[in-house]
Amino acid sequence: MTKIDHTHDPKLKSWVESANDNSDFPIQNLPFGIFSYDGARPRGGVRIGDKILDIFAALTAGLFAGDLFEAAEAASQETLNSFLALGEGPRRALRKRLSKLLAEGAEEAKRVARCLHDCDNVKMHVPTRIGDYTDFYVGIHHAINVGKLFRPDNPLLPNYKYVPIGYHGRASSIQPSGTSIKRPMGQTKALDADAPWFGPTQRLDYELELGIWIGQGNPQGEPISISKASASAAGFCLLNDWSARDIQAWEYQPLGPFLSKNFGSTISPWIITPEALAPFQIPQPKRPPGDPEPLAYLLDEQDQQSGAFDIELEVLLQTPGLAKQGLQPHRLSLSNTRHMYWTVAQMIAHHTVNGCNLQPGDFLGTGTISAPDRTGFGSMLETTEGGKHPVELASGEQRAFLEDGDEVILRARGRRDGYVTIGFGECRATITPAR
Ligand code: MN
Repeated sequence: MTKIDHTHDPKLKSWVESANDNSDFPIQNLPFGIFSYDGARPRGGVRIGDKILDIFAALTAGLFAGDLFEAAEAASQETLNSFLALGEGPRRALRKRLSKLLAEGAEEAKRVARCLHDCDNVKMHVPTRIGDYTDFYVGIHHAINVGKLFRPDNPLLPNYKYVPIGYHGRASSIQPSGTSIKRPMGQTKALDADAPWFGPTQRLDYELELGIWIGQGNPQGEPISISKASASAAGFCLLNDWSARDIQAWEYQPLGPFLSKNFGSTISPWIITPEALAPFQIPQPKRPPGDPEPLAYLLDEQDQQSGAFDIELEVLLQTPGLAKQGLQPHRLSLSNTRHMYWTVAQMIAHHTVNGCNLQPGDFLGTGTISAPDRTGFGSMLETTEGGKHPVELASGEQRAFLEDGDEVILRARGRRDGYVTIGFGECRATITPAR
């Protein structure tokens, strides 16, 4: 279990005042990301309120000495691969130093202030050079809901409660929040048609997921044991796994998703560390009576006691009609990471149990995390039951699936009595037309 220390103290405030005002990024958060400004090369930064601390500038200003120098240098580079590879010790030490530098009353405040940028003036990038991306399917309510649409009598296949199901996704098309997504073209086939049709997807959907950044990986042939697996998760973000449901329905058998998924995925750009999430760790919710125990290689007492997270997940939809009338985005969903059937450690232990090697900067998606009822479903497919019950918007518009010009916004918050609420920042993107 990640330890609570003085960096989590709810009384701690920053001299960066925007951090103290219900920001997603109070001094208790301190996520890492890659930013650029004025066309300069991308480099590592730490988010605090509405500012970014330029780690390279802080390094040059002599703010990190001794062992901290190595960690800060790794975090100042063009990608965060080598920083994530350092693991928990150096990451925790750097967090403590950053917390001290940014806390109210810090003697170095003037020097640190010269290393800050306004968030509005920078561009955020994908934070690592992602070698491989794997998407899991651990949201059990999503698996049941989707299964029902295809197999009303037998929604959950028999392997689900034994195997953390996943597929290998496409790393090259992962984009940072704010990058638009072009509606994909593809083959689709109506149930009553004799042959497929080629054209833009008519059933464009989002998927609400938690993303996991891999830190220390494993040599090929040497699995990561369940007791050590949580230490390989170096951080977290939001993931929107855009999905073309009509393309998916036609192509997915027998090998699984392909062009219905790999045209684009959007992530929130800040890596929220395990240290920042320590207050929101919870026991893995008990399996319902009658469910099997996980096999031994997926079962660890410590992981069962603290390997799950209580993080609120939210989906908002902004449409051209809502924007035109000055209306707020429509909340499509409010869910929570506690609805994951498998823990992050179980996902990692399973991924590597056959000897598959994970590498620093690799990326995992949890799969869509739906709550048990409609107010928390993590995709349009579920909320509208495959388009049968469109969502009604305050603008008078309806949505069975996403339309061109729609913008999907994902948010996440860790909230617990006695602790400061932290957020993940936004994961947002607008749909542009196919042609
Ligand atoms: Mn997915």
